[in-house]
Amino acid sequence: MTKPLGWGLVGASTIAHEWVIDAIRTVPGNEVVAVFSTDPARGARYAADHRIAKAHPSLSALLSDPGVEAVYISTTNDLHRDQTVAAAAARKHVLCEKPLALSTAEAREMIAACRAAGVVLATNHHLREASSHRKIRDLVRDGAVGVPRFAKIFHAGLLPAHLQGWRLRDPRTGPGAILDLTVHDVDTLRHILGAEPVEVVALTQRAGMASEEIEDGAMTLLRFDNGVVAQLHDAFTVPFARTGIEVHGSTGSIYARDVMTQRPIGEVVLRTAAGEQAIPFEPENMYVRTIRAFTRAAAGEGQPSCSGEDGFRALAAALAALQSARTGRRAAVEPA
Ligand code: NDP
Repeated sequence: MTKPLGWGLVGASTIAHEWVIDAIRTVPGNEVVAVFSTDPARGARYAADHRIAKAHPSLSALLSDPGVEAVYISTTNDLHRDQTVAAAAARKHVLCEKPLALSTAEAREMIAACRAAGVVLATNHHLREASSHRKIRDLVRDGAVGVPRFAKIFHAGLLPAHLQGWRLRDPRTGPGAILDLTVHDVDTLRHILGAEPVEVVALTQRAGMASEEIEDGAMTLLRFDNGVVAQLHDAFTVPFARTGIEVHGSTGSIYARDVMTQRPIGEVVLRTAAGEQAIPFEPENMYVRTIRAFTRAAAGEGQPSCSGEDGFRALAAALAALQSARTGRRAAVEPA
């Protein structure tokens, strides 16, 4: 059996509460041994609510805990860099939430720090582990649509009320629809197409849900290095929009619905000259798959689902989208 990990949570967050603590506990032997919150009273409550043995009052205390072998960083985006660099210095493996950082310079620093320390750095783009996405990737790779030419990601919806905080209001945290949603879309398409985005055009929308300077919706066009042009629709403001993925190629099209979600649901249909074919897949919890791959990578058995370099590339394209929206010009994606 792969050596399991003792985990420290950096951030008493909603995503850890809703998905990741359970996912850690589902992988045999893995346990959450400690949590760090900037508010010790809240940290203690969070620990009690989640049956976590220790709540540390500082990051350094958590990183000095000998039971912590890996950290899951799910704080606001402005903190990811410093916390990752500190964890690497303490020789802890790092699973960091997306967006990996707020700039490509920060992301490079995180990658370099983890590499120098010999620890795993992974980015939690969980959608790569969706059975539906893996099925679409396999179809594209195996030529089911011929030569892929266009792709679309539908990732607009209504931001749930309990998440309508810093994402909409605090400019220091890296808020907005592009760093929250578009960054996932880019990773999804890199994974499905096996190609890299090279240039971006984006228009943002401020529909009034977020503070004035923060976009609550965006449409982005990306050109990939294999020629594919992709369209991404991301928003917090449209309650009845469905999510999905389309890939259109020279001999076929894939239509996937309700697949840009945390839950393992949705449907995938392949449309070719032979007609329409529903593609079956086994639903599986993507966070559990992510933790399983991470645990193996920490034991020296393969790679995490989504590496630090993958996180860098998704971030670079999202930052290019923000730049394009700001300048009104197309923007090049910074290469790795
Ligand atoms: P939260 O707002 O829940 O948590 C972020 C930080 O806010 C926490 O570290 C915590 O700080 C503080 N906080 C949380 N709840 C409260 C509260 N009630 N009162 C005061 N402070 C609070 O953010 P999310 O969980 O939504 O997102 C965290 C990160 O995870 C982001 O980087 C986000 O982009 C990413 N994310 C990823 C998802 C995925 O599926 N991959 C899905 C959702 C988010 P402290 O610990 O110091 O108390």
